[in-house]
Amino acid sequence: MAKPLAEVKKVIGCDLGITKLVHLSDRHQIDNPKFSTNKKTRHLLKIRQKSVSRKAKGSNNRKKAAQKLGRLHKRIADKRQAYQWKVANQIVSRNVDGIALEDLNVSGMMKRCRVKTDNRGRFMPNGQSRKKGLNRAIADAGWSDLILKIEYLAVKQGKVVIKVNPQNSSRECRSCGHIHASNRNREKFICTECGYHEHADIGAAKTIRDRGLEIVRRDSAKLGARHLNAQKISPRSKSKRSEFGNLINQDIKAAKS
Ligand SMILES: [Zn+2]
Repeated sequence: MAKPLAEVKKVIGCDLGITKLVHLSDRHQIDNPKFSTNKKTRHLLKIRQKSVSRKAKGSNNRKKAAQKLGRLHKRIADKRQAYQWKVANQIVSRNVDGIALEDLNVSGMMKRCRVKTDNRGRFMPNGQSRKKGLNRAIADAGWSDLILKIEYLAVKQGKVVIKVNPQNSSRECRSCGHIHASNRNREKFICTECGYHEHADIGAAKTIRDRGLEIVRRDSAKLGARHLNAQKISPRSKSKRSEFGNLINQDIKAAKS
């Protein structure tokens, strides 16, 4: 059973990436072994692939080569799965009530892995092949599979997973709220407005954590209001309902302090 939202106090934020697979809001970083996109494996995959395509279609040899390639793919996938379980367990087992993650979608992925464009939005030289490489790296990292495992383990341990809006999570200044792309310079975050600086991905993880906490507070206030509404207040009495909202706000302030 998951905790009631009102009891969710400690939340950890996770920022998923490529250089590191996960940055956590407690400053911990989790490596990305790049199971299929590391140099050695990429090379081996190419060799196995070529070996298939060099053989005559329909031949026994081609079939054998294809099986060999298939076994390599399977081995890579198995390793990735095992690693993801380990990482998911590492995250969910932390002393927290909730895990905040970005609500991943294609645009979220593009944000993270934007290819350099010139000021008219055209790809810079070599942009296309870099994009191909990035897509491969994204697939290799397997974020969505990792998220599923985190969700599965969270349910088992009675913790909640909170999906937050990823917009600007790595561009917004945590000190003054200024949002600008140039706030971010590789792994460093330096606010062009107030000078606040921090490791960019860990800052993003903290922003994700804070957004998660915000959602929890908002939703538990809503749930509390609904619950008490049903108990004490007639649904038509508007004035009482707003009174009620105040009470809830006070509760939140008390919980925050
Ligand atoms: Zn700032």
